[in-house]
Amino acid sequence: MAKDYYNVLGVDRKATKEDIKKAFRKLAHKYHPDKGGTDESKFKEITEAYSVLSDDKKRREYDAYGQAFAGGAPRGGQAGAQGFGGFDFNGFQQGFGQGGVDFDFGDIFGDIFGGGRGQARTPRGRDISIDLEIPFKDAVFGTTRSVLLAKVSTCAVCRGTGGKPGTELETCKTCNGSGRVHEMRNSILGQFTSVRACTACDGTGKIPKEKCTECKGHGVLRKQEEIKINIPAGIDNGEMIRMPQQGEAVKTGVAGDLYVKIHVKPHPVFRRDGSNLTMNLSVKLTDAMLGTSVSVETLEGKTLEVKIPPMKRAEEHLRVAGKGIPFEGGRGDLIIRLEVALPHKLSGKARKTVEELKSEGL
Ligand SMILES: [Zn+2]
Ligand SMILES: [Zn+2]
Repeated sequence: MAKDYYNVLGVDRKATKEDIKKAFRKLAHKYHPDKGGTDESKFKEITEAYSVLSDDKKRREYDAYGQAFAGGAPRGGQAGAQGFGGFDFNGFQQGFGQGGVDFDFGDIFGDIFGGGRGQARTPRGRDISIDLEIPFKDAVFGTTRSVLLAKVSTCAVCRGTGGKPGTELETCKTCNGSGRVHEMRNSILGQFTSVRACTACDGTGKIPKEKCTECKGHGVLRKQEEIKINIPAGIDNGEMIRMPQQGEAVKTGVAGDLYVKIHVKPHPVFRRDGSNLTMNLSVKLTDAMLGTSVSVETLEGKTLEVKIPPMKRAEEHLRVAGKGIPFEGGRGDLIIRLEVALPHKLSGKARKTVEELKSEGL
């Protein structure tokens, strides 16, 4: 049953969202069963096409996988429902059988299939994003940070049920325990039965006899919460850590995510270059010429003896293997750039010596 959705709506592949809406609206008017149109399968076809082409993500997938996307997706089953982001074709057909469209029609120009069949989408709490500045050393070796965050969290007293602990639950009178409320709605396509989660019981179908006093029955409340953030070794400036379900909670449903954007403070000595650390090392002119050994303090605070061979040029770099940035399965190098420090002034004797060198052609 592979169809060309663009053909179905009579638009070309470059059609804008607005074009697609317009085309759908026109065809939906023409073929809608309640509008006297008799071609039910045609209406299903255009709504299916619209559900895909009006959604940027689904449209991209469809464009990429073409008709295999439509033909290959199982219909009505879990996989199919997920593949289409909750669009359940069987549910759609059943809806017609009952003389109504049994899913949340919502805004006809919006996410009309977002609700799937009769089921309100699982509520999801808000995502939170925060910025965190850490010292250079912590970014290289990893660290843990605790932050205090004021956010909507599950009530600890009732554990999110909204009921006073120990209180009995009774069937919600608003939805008779189904958790769903049907309502008639008027849209440009006629009247629809739409289904939404019952707000009295938040879709649970049960209401506690006595409300939790802490959260006043909401199951969630805004409070300060301490959150521990594990910062992995080797994280770079601007990288984001995602902490699933550490965002804002909702009474029924899934908490949002917490995003932590890392800002790394610059270090006075070390800089990062991919997985390598770089530093500049100042050596005296005579040491640079004759060679020497110097003590270097590494980022982890250890002393490292570095041999500088005679006549080592600054641009040649010294490389100390395995003292750079840790990454999975290894560690980069420490790269030392030499800087030759000239003396501020010369004594009479030194000047003579240098003049001798000059006469040697150095
Ligand atoms: Zn509570
Ligand atoms: Zn209810």
